[in-house]
Amino acid sequence: MLFASVVKAQEPLKDYTFFVNSRMNDNYFFSSISASSSSAVKNISNKLPVSEEVFFTPGNALQLSYTNGNGNWSVTINRSQIRGQDHFKRAACLSFHLYNASVDQEGLPVIQLMKADSTLSKKVAVGANKKKVWERVIIPVDSFGLAFNSADEIAAVVFSQQGNDGKQHDLYIDDIEFVSSLKVDKVIAVPEIINAKGYAKHINLEWKPFNDSAVKYVAIYRSANGSDFDSVGIQSPLISRFADFTGEANKSYIYKIAFFDYNYNEAKVSGTVVAKTRSMTDAEMLTMVQEACFRYYWDGAEKVSGLSKENIMGRENMIATGASGFGIMALIVGTERNFISREQSVQRFLQITGFLENTETFHGAFSHFVDAPSGKAEPFFGENDNGGDLVETSFLIQGLLAAKAYFSKDNEREQLIRDRINNIWQKVEWNWYKQFPGSKFLYWHWSPDKAWVINHNLIGWNETMVTYLLAIASPTHAVPASMYYTGWANQEQTGQDYRSGWGGTQNGSMYTNGQTYEGIKLDVGVSNGGPLFFTQYAYLGYDPHFINDKYTNYFTNNKNIALINLKYCMRNPNNYKDYGDSCWGLTASDGPFSYSADEPVKERDLGKIAPTGAISSFPYTPEVSMKALKNYYNNYGKFLWGEYGFRDAFDLNQNWCSDIYMGLNQAPMVIMIENFRTGLIWKLFMSDKDVQNGLKKLNEETRK
Ligand code: CA
Repeated sequence: MLFASVVKAQEPLKDYTFFVNSRMNDNYFFSSISASSSSAVKNISNKLPVSEEVFFTPGNALQLSYTNGNGNWSVTINRSQIRGQDHFKRAACLSFHLYNASVDQEGLPVIQLMKADSTLSKKVAVGANKKKVWERVIIPVDSFGLAFNSADEIAAVVFSQQGNDGKQHDLYIDDIEFVSSLKVDKVIAVPEIINAKGYAKHINLEWKPFNDSAVKYVAIYRSANGSDFDSVGIQSPLISRFADFTGEANKSYIYKIAFFDYNYNEAKVSGTVVAKTRSMTDAEMLTMVQEACFRYYWDGAEKVSGLSKENIMGRENMIATGASGFGIMALIVGTERNFISREQSVQRFLQITGFLENTETFHGAFSHFVDAPSGKAEPFFGENDNGGDLVETSFLIQGLLAAKAYFSKDNEREQLIRDRINNIWQKVEWNWYKQFPGSKFLYWHWSPDKAWVINHNLIGWNETMVTYLLAIASPTHAVPASMYYTGWANQEQTGQDYRSGWGGTQNGSMYTNGQTYEGIKLDVGVSNGGPLFFTQYAYLGYDPHFINDKYTNYFTNNKNIALINLKYCMRNPNNYKDYGDSCWGLTASDGPFSYSADEPVKERDLGKIAPTGAISSFPYTPEVSMKALKNYYNNYGKFLWGEYGFRDAFDLNQNWCSDIYMGLNQAPMVIMIENFRTGLIWKLFMSDKDVQNGLKKLNEETRK
């Protein structure tokens, strides 16, 4: 067999930074401190304090106050590992900004680079420094005498004691990073603010997108009187929006923005705009959250395909298939709520469907991740994951079938969208993914060169019900409805072992559960019901009200799982900070140490909360979902609210908030709020004739 060589898109190389700003006040999560004898470092919970008063780039810097005593002190600044940030510029020099607030200039620390295996470089003296002026320190990486090939081999920088003058010293440190060159390009682009809109406690600023690699960052300036401007934040040049959360209602502000070059010089400044925060009704707040999250899939989309990225900021040229299906439904909501015009929406869906028609598929199934613009599979999760992913495909198809119903007008362009979706849907060979004739199960993956190497059979109850429902509904490559019971709801040893394997309990291992948790009886589900995304991903389009099998109704069962999650968080057996009926919803998200799927089980509740947990439960638990939404916005907005709505997750016990937005987590908020408000996406998806036919077949099987 011949394989054509594939030219993958080259990811734009990102700056490799150890510190720019801390998302949280008080202390910096990614720092750690040690000190012995009379040597000491000022710290909060063994981490460096964050200063909002003295900083180079807004809004903060690290405060390094230390005493050079008889022992030794050291401070480690770890680089946060951000999902999908894995292509970096060359490291020629280490650079940081230093502000010396001490009385004398002696007694400055030394600095070292540290590899992931804790190997340390030589110590390099930071050197004399002027008093109370920000200065840039630049150290060629060769001076550290540590061999490394790429920036990401360096996991941390370490500041430590030099000399023992017995004195206290006060430094501030900002913008610790590798730089590839000291020669910088001149900024040509001119900043232009195109929109400034006030919400309850924040202003959303939007500027004209630009393409100028000489811009390091966009700085945002705010003024209350039009003459005195404070710098309140910075933004990546890849994003053309900024949410300024001031925390104050009914207040006017004047804004301007500026482009900064790679030497931190202000290069170009925009004109000013005025905007005012205003009080908002509950309905307006729902729309506000929907619109902000919708933007992730609109201006945050991958440029060539118009589809969803895995996360922002992560890979720029990689599409996430399941998240794209969710994003498609969020785009429909955005169209219906006039965040964009129908014409803009039609244009985007022509782009999306045109791209998908030419995307590499594997017996009709899409891969989990797709490279753009080539449309080839991107094995982001490992070399075995280089073929079809039936679950991600079902999430994509769920969105596409809703879109096919939405673009129902009798004109050429909408007809073309419908035809293309039909073509994509009819080409998926669901029955191929049985692996062999007579198989009881569908299988998650197939690889063109490694066949069934992952060998993961789909067994419920989890997020994959829609995969079976669509496989049964396919007009061209259907599996028999009996597979719902032999595969998804399998009650033989295979099914029992699978469920107890990941659930860590026999409860629910027969598919049915029957136990009572937090006072609520659970019909179907493993352990206490699992993470909340199980009640969300498969039911964004597929209305669970209509799914009645031999064991339960899935709206009721999903609602019970949401209530168990809520009541568990209210009981809060681990005594985590702020848990309660306005801060709840354990699910899969980014975390301070890693991505994890948290559950309402003491050992699987790590203390992090993802806003999508409670907010995407809106149809099940409207009052407490609203309570959580308001709490997240009003009380945590300063760190949690950004240009694409709520950031992925936060952990108040660790004083950590995620820097990213996840494609799988933003859209469910848009869609489930809409399903609660109008039922729009549920109605669209359920109106599809093939879906209706599949449901009829399942119901016949259930009655047998
Ligand atoms: Ca800063």
